[in-house]
Amino acid sequence: MATISSNIQQVRARIAQACDSARRPVQSVTLLCVSKTFGPDAVRAAHAAGERCFGENYVQEALDKIAALADLRESIEWHLIGPLQSNKTRVVAEQFDWVHSVDRLKIAQRLSEQRPAHLPPLQLCLQVNISGEASKSGLAPAEVSAVAQAVAALPRVVLRGLMAIPEPAGDQQAQRVPHRALRELLEQLRAQGLPLDTLSMGMSADLDAAILEGASIVRVGSAIFGARG
Ligand SMILES: *Cc1c(COP(=O)(O)O)cnc(C)c1O
Repeated sequence: MATISSNIQQVRARIAQACDSARRPVQSVTLLCVSKTFGPDAVRAAHAAGERCFGENYVQEALDKIAALADLRESIEWHLIGPLQSNKTRVVAEQFDWVHSVDRLKIAQRLSEQRPAHLPPLQLCLQVNISGEASKSGLAPAEVSAVAQAVAALPRVVLRGLMAIPEPAGDQQAQRVPHRALRELLEQLRAQGLPLDTLSMGMSADLDAAILEGASIVRVGSAIFGARG
């Protein structure tokens, strides 16, 4: 667990360095600690090191962890970053703060209907298949505008921006290409009048490139918690 806090220091240093190169304030980037496959103790260690935002991929695993960490609930933001099926939207609307992986209007409509009235609106990003991989989930770039306009009109959710998981690329110049494409797509939506402020992009291998292209949330798993089994 000592390694989690030193890993966090290293990731924070990378974020600071990339922000410096991009002439961006370091507070403009949120670190989302991706705790999938790691237990509640790993989240506690990262929380003790000062982290507050945690990302999970699998709904049932996340619910177990949220329950085990109920004592920290007030000081944690839980973000769903993995695929979401229609039959799981209710628990997600009840338990999470953010969903990054909205890939169709129907999911957003259900989340809006099912978000409890006593909670603040659920924060959403649309997932975009920015590298055009046949196997990857996410909206095609050409579909994004119509879906974004419809999601933005829903009452119990707030559309914040876009999320992508680009194809891995070797060097930083190549890594920047899909991140730049996602930023340009966000800029188009903003030009259409949508008040979006979030680009969820960049993981352990490419967070530096993502920050250079404007990432506002980087989702970092293995660089913090270690390799997944
Ligand atoms: C697992 C995962 C991450 C974190 O990946 P690392 O390479 O471990 O940093 C980020 N985003 C999504 C959607 C993931 O599934």
